[in-house]
Amino acid sequence: MASTLLENVQHYFDRAADKLGLDETTRKALSEPDRLVVVKLPMRVNGELKVFQGYRVQHNNARGPYKGGLRYHPSVELDEVTALAALMTWKCSLLNIPYGGAKGGIACEPWALSQEELETLSRLYIRALMPNIGPLVDVPAPDVNTDEKIMGWMVDEASTIAGRSMAPLLTGKPIALGGSLGRRESTGFGVAVVALAALKKLGIDKTKATAAVQGFGKVGCWAAMRLHKEGVKVVAVSDISGGLYRKEGLDIKALYDYVQTSPRHLIAGYEEPGIQAISNEELLTLDVDVVIPAALENQIDETVAKKMRCKIVSEGANGPTTPEGDAVLESRGIIAIPDILANAGGVTVSYFEWVQNLQGLAWSFDEVISKLDTMMVSCLNEVWDLADELKTNLRTAGFVLAIKRVLEAMKLRSGVLK
Ligand code: NAD
Repeated sequence: MASTLLENVQHYFDRAADKLGLDETTRKALSEPDRLVVVKLPMRVNGELKVFQGYRVQHNNARGPYKGGLRYHPSVELDEVTALAALMTWKCSLLNIPYGGAKGGIACEPWALSQEELETLSRLYIRALMPNIGPLVDVPAPDVNTDEKIMGWMVDEASTIAGRSMAPLLTGKPIALGGSLGRRESTGFGVAVVALAALKKLGIDKTKATAAVQGFGKVGCWAAMRLHKEGVKVVAVSDISGGLYRKEGLDIKALYDYVQTSPRHLIAGYEEPGIQAISNEELLTLDVDVVIPAALENQIDETVAKKMRCKIVSEGANGPTTPEGDAVLESRGIIAIPDILANAGGVTVSYFEWVQNLQGLAWSFDEVISKLDTMMVSCLNEVWDLADELKTNLRTAGFVLAIKRVLEAMKLRSGVLK
């Protein structure tokens, strides 16, 4: 049976904890969540009473307010939210952002709700959570099936309850409500920027490099756009409708424009001379320099990892590589830039949004992206050097660095941990 995301996160944590020589109790203090909040959300759907369940897991706030997205999906449950909250703690620490980690969501089928019902549910959720969140307490953001419109409703609800502007309570807001320029592009750009930095380290000229991107959603499309703009030949992309391959490279800007105007925002039906259809597995195992999994978890398992021919994997999705797949990649010398580093661009620009809100400032797009690039590349360099020093892979080195910083903060805040 496939392992769960919580088991995978614990596995990566334990590998790093072994390197750090941490005892069992210290591991427990670091890996268990601070607080689990479960809320009941009763509302009428089509006139019928329904009781939804909402969650917020606050994992660790030793380094700053809890931070993490809100997911609307039928599969939302406590274990998965806990794993994602822990990943946020390690991600924020690794990027040296002064936040802790959290995650939340509602078990629901957002696509089955009307806009009015979705708004009511979002307002109920934030109302129920108000005693446990705040701009200096816990700062939620969008995640799967939530967006800036939902953040707008939530910030309005919170501001109405508080009787003052609560803009810094949520990030990923519409620009008109205090959102940041560059937030939309941030995760994908970050995934691309660390891949470009890794190519440079391997001495590969980016204008001669090739890439394949799995998923053409909020992360994948901006990763592909950035790589394309930097001169990398993106030869393959895929989404739920299938994959496209073009040996000479795809015109990613034309594909992006096509997807924006196609009825279901899918790549199916896009035409360019010489284009071929490929499967997901074919895409992941193409002979390219960079593969970006930016769709789902558990895509690179042992079997796929054995067949992969790329030099670099830059993880856009959360948890796209299984522990078994990760071990195979490491043994085959394929560099995997872990999710907690590669897809941290989104939370980095969320942090910039919060900073702008607290200071009453609005930075330009170029300012945001240049700060983002600097933080992502310097983090990759730091993790790369530590991996060399510890003779381990980037994932374990990333967890080591992240855990060390959280542990240091916990020790400084309380004498309980020695
Ligand atoms: P999204 O829903 O916008 O896009 C997902 C993409 O994957 C879509 O193109 C979809 O068609 C495609 N897809 C789904 N099933 C597929 C399949 N079987 N084969 C190929 N493609 C498939 O979601 P997103 O926001 O881009 O998130 C993607 C991943 O990145 C998730 O794991 C998410 O947790 C992670 N992530 C997102 C952000 C962010 O800022 N959006 C930040 C960090 C991590």
